[in-house]
Amino acid sequence: MRILLVEDDPDLSDVAATHLRDQSHAVDVVGTLKMASAAVAGVTYDLILLDLGLPDGDGVDWLGRQRRAGQQAPVLILTARDQISQRIRGLDAGADDYLTKPYDLHELGARVRAIGRRHTASSALQLGAVRIDLSAHRVLLEQREVRLTSREWAVLEALALRPGHLVTRARLEDALFEFGAELESNVLEVYISQLRRKLGRQMIETVRGLGYRLGFGQEAG
Ligand code: CA
Repeated sequence: MRILLVEDDPDLSDVAATHLRDQSHAVDVVGTLKMASAAVAGVTYDLILLDLGLPDGDGVDWLGRQRRAGQQAPVLILTARDQISQRIRGLDAGADDYLTKPYDLHELGARVRAIGRRHTASSALQLGAVRIDLSAHRVLLEQREVRLTSREWAVLEALALRPGHLVTRARLEDALFEFGAELESNVLEVYISQLRRKLGRQMIETVRGLGYRLGFGQEAG
């Protein structure tokens, strides 16, 4: 996704931008609302990550103006203000979701992924004998339904959103985090190995040191 990160704390924006770039997102970072306005005037973003306390104004007011002007990109608010009234104001102004600082990077990645999924027209994929229906959350192997746990599904779905492309470990770990998995060092390998056992070894290729790729040796249909 093409993401605009509006954040005036350079340490926070560096860490978040690096994490999202590791997950193959293109991230532009700006530190003021004036620069954010210039950025959205020139680029159609898939997602805006918006801090509320900015040097030249309040992010919620900016968001309200953007929505009235027709800005349609999903917006995830990132803020230290955890009071309920701020959340309601942000959602009223047109935010899609909310993340309270300090946030875990895996949680940020998971929320970004969830927003991306809601805004992506999902469909079914046929990879050899395996059919993955992303909207129905179903997997068929030779026409027979394969039962997956929610965490196996989370990993498979993250792979299936980019069939034939490398999906990084960080992105897959975010998918697991979304389902509350403890991120111990080999937890991802455990779910990958379960998926290979259920769907066939050749379905998931290991890209050593980087991540995994779905549909190895298959035509993505
Ligand atoms: Ca700030």
